[in-house]
Amino acid sequence: MLFNGIDFDTYFKHYPDAKGYFGKYGGSYVSPELQRAMDEITQAYFTICQSRQFIAELRRIRKEFQGRPTPISHLERLSNELGCVQLYVKREDLNHTGAHKLNHCMGEVLLAKYMGKKKVIAETGAGQHGVAMATAAAYFGLECDIYMGSVDIAKQAPNVARMKILGANVVEVTHGLKTLKEAVDAAFDAYTKDYKNSMYCIGSVLGPHPFPLMVRDFQHVVGEEAREQFIDMTGHLPDAIVACVGGGSNAAGFFSGFLNDPVDIYGIEPLGRGPKLGDHAASLKYGTEGIMHGFNSIMLKDANGEPAPVYSVASGLDYPSSGPEHAFLHELGRVKYDVINDDETIDAFYRLARKEGIIPAIESAHAVAYGIKLAKTMGTGSVLINLSGRGDKDMDYVINTYGIR
Ligand SMILES: *Cc1c(COP(=O)(O)O)cnc(C)c1O
Repeated sequence: MLFNGIDFDTYFKHYPDAKGYFGKYGGSYVSPELQRAMDEITQAYFTICQSRQFIAELRRIRKEFQGRPTPISHLERLSNELGCVQLYVKREDLNHTGAHKLNHCMGEVLLAKYMGKKKVIAETGAGQHGVAMATAAAYFGLECDIYMGSVDIAKQAPNVARMKILGANVVEVTHGLKTLKEAVDAAFDAYTKDYKNSMYCIGSVLGPHPFPLMVRDFQHVVGEEAREQFIDMTGHLPDAIVACVGGGSNAAGFFSGFLNDPVDIYGIEPLGRGPKLGDHAASLKYGTEGIMHGFNSIMLKDANGEPAPVYSVASGLDYPSSGPEHAFLHELGRVKYDVINDDETIDAFYRLARKEGIIPAIESAHAVAYGIKLAKTMGTGSVLINLSGRGDKDMDYVINTYGIR
């Protein structure tokens, strides 16, 4: 399919290019020392991860340990309440550990094992990436250091307990806003000091090349499964698909199954309390081009051009930039990026729970809220939403902050 001069039949061959660029976005902006580590990972990715043995082992793990394929559920009662549009969800909440993140963590830590590393290092926001990493490290028998901001540690106590039970070392980050951005900085620092023994595993399609490529490829399984399952269920493609975008990993993997199809694609960022800088984390909507954490993308900047403070009701979406591939797809217009605020998110959270018996992660509830909006405006057709995770981690926070609705 040709779209704005880009041939999506051959998209994956050309994007990213050999240096990790999606158009002008992506690349690798790191110190020469860290670049050597990135080159080592790139080389390992292109040899080890393409080997029959690696692919077979990852397939087996996905089936026997993660419980894949995850199903698609038809939201029949919610759809009927809204009108004629049929809503469906891809159930990444049923992936082991309760979110899509284990898809790339198992891939990354399997790669670390093949590379002979002893330890994996990562950061976490909502705690989901930390739990997925701790799970993968336990599975493969590697040491695991997880960097986490104090604000998130307080907000996500059950996930902190999970990481500790799984044997991970949780390192508290106490500077700046004490959330995801600072945790990324701290994890990068630790890795730079110890890259011979360890591998850094990023939590999303972010960071220097090859991470945006590698994480997208490990998440591709979501889009690949979803496309086949949806056609099996309904006999056709969905008219629209929706995913929430923080760093953008669940969206990147989900979208990658449909980029070459006549399907409208929507990436949803958190508008939080509103459009004022500091009140949201909608980087693609309100940001400008810039470099942070080793890659060029669209980011929210403060008056000094540094990454701006961000806020939303969903810790996992609080990041002042998005993966370079999203910046590229945004520029091309192949994916439409829009926003959903806190209130709309909490409404959707309760609505999905009450109407369908599924408690979504607050992150995923942003995508559900947008699916509900689309159902009201489209009139007819079908919308497939990526339900990136389950809401167990968020229940106390929602009840204490918003009460029962
Ligand atoms: C981490 C997380 C997200 C956001 O991360 P992406 O890389 O944007 O996918 C979304 N949903 C859930 C459930 C998460 O845990």
